[in-house]
Amino acid sequence: MSAQANFFDQVTQYFNEAARFTDYPKGLLDQIRACNSVYRFDFPLRRNSGEIEVIHAWRVQHSHHKLPVKGGIRYSPEVYEEEVMALAALMTYKCALVDVPFGGAKGGIKIEPKDYSLDELERLTRRYAAELTKKSFLGPGIDVPAPDYGTGEREMAWIADTYAAFNPGQLDALGCVTGKPVTQGGVRGRKEATGRGLFFALREACNETDEMKRLGLPRGLDGKRIIVQGLGNVGYHAAKFCREGGALITVIAEREGAIRNPKGLNEEAVVQHRRATGSPLGVPGATDIADSRAALELECDVLLPAALEGVFTAENAPRIQAKIILEGANGPTTPEADPVFRQKGMLVIPDIYCNAGGVTVSYFEWLKNLSHVRFGRMQKRHEQANELGMLKVIEETTGRKFTDAERAALAKGPDEQDLVNSGLEETMIAAFHELLNVQRQTTGVPDLRIAAFLNAIHKVARSYTELGIFP
Ligand code: NAD
Repeated sequence: MSAQANFFDQVTQYFNEAARFTDYPKGLLDQIRACNSVYRFDFPLRRNSGEIEVIHAWRVQHSHHKLPVKGGIRYSPEVYEEEVMALAALMTYKCALVDVPFGGAKGGIKIEPKDYSLDELERLTRRYAAELTKKSFLGPGIDVPAPDYGTGEREMAWIADTYAAFNPGQLDALGCVTGKPVTQGGVRGRKEATGRGLFFALREACNETDEMKRLGLPRGLDGKRIIVQGLGNVGYHAAKFCREGGALITVIAEREGAIRNPKGLNEEAVVQHRRATGSPLGVPGATDIADSRAALELECDVLLPAALEGVFTAENAPRIQAKIILEGANGPTTPEADPVFRQKGMLVIPDIYCNAGGVTVSYFEWLKNLSHVRFGRMQKRHEQANELGMLKVIEETTGRKFTDAERAALAKGPDEQDLVNSGLEETMIAAFHELLNVQRQTTGVPDLRIAAFLNAIHKVARSYTELGIFP
């Protein structure tokens, strides 16, 4: 087996372990597990030097049980077919877990973005979107990409514009991609959503009294020491919300090395320092650790991988000291590391649940694009008027006047950001307790990951069972 076949095989292993707890027919399980469409394509890019370079790209649609399919696009020199397949499969299970009505998909372009100029990146992104459009692999009712490793709002805006150019007059065209800038049909809170969702997931887990007792940790997020690997979109925002929620970010590990401060690091200061110097090393007040991978083995309460897959293996798992693994990245724990963590009694909060905040808010963005109105626009002032009326009644009843600051905080009416955050919080809390229930109610389910896969299998199987199979 090639090393590159591993990631999809790893997802399959987890799936198979969970499938043992069901009695669905083998054929149905095979269908849920399989990637429905794998599109691999090459296209030419004219470099600024005038040379032509062939670019390798993929889009994988894992499951068509619900449409559109949904999943990010990754730009990395390490992208390979089985990785995109694995990530697409994880998207199917993730969407099912958080009741987002999409099938799973993923895309990838095999490039190191740093090696391309801005206009080269724009040309290759637009060509990628054009190739997908030509093959009916892109569209608000077909397949809706989003950012992933190496891509962000900028690329999503180029994709939306390219799709619109091929579909003049299509009213819902902006819904062909999510993670766009707010000024181009994006939704407030999408950029932070995965990190914010990780914070909600960790907060819920830390509030489980019995689980914290079992781990020998105090209840609550306050003072929990966190190691973060990867200070990109997911790692940065997760660090920010967890720190604001009372946790201490004691180590940040990036490509160039790691830094440590037992009293707590500020992610914003580290990002600024890295931007200015090209490395997190040398941040004032912190100790440098040259070996970034070794930094993951330091003592902490929570370890938050937010870079790439395959971080924890049979080799390093025995040395990991964290009590909780919060899987911000997709697939950081290999099936060889998983039993080691289980045996050590660690709590692994699995990727397909805890990093689902991104796709949840992408769903909200898609809804916003289809409804063509900002969340809160119709009701904000109406609700504010109701809240002010309520405050007036309280003032008259109690004889106490609210201060201007209290009035502003208590009667503001929800705006888009409030509604998005509230929808995300509700989703993450409900999905967490659903997982716990599945684990507790199914004899033999060893951990939350297998509970998550099991719950996802049940939900996708229900779709096939209720809808039937065409023709
Ligand atoms: P990103 O490109 O914004 O950031 C990734 C960061 O990881 C970069 O800062 C990079 O320098 C760092 N990194 C790379 N290799 C590293 C290493 N060996 N050690 C330490 N740091 C390293 O990507 P992202 O969007 O934050 O995605 C990170 C992970 O989260 C990926 O696995 C992705 O699939 C997953 N994810 C992302 C989203 C999302 O909404 N963006 C949603 C769910 C899951």
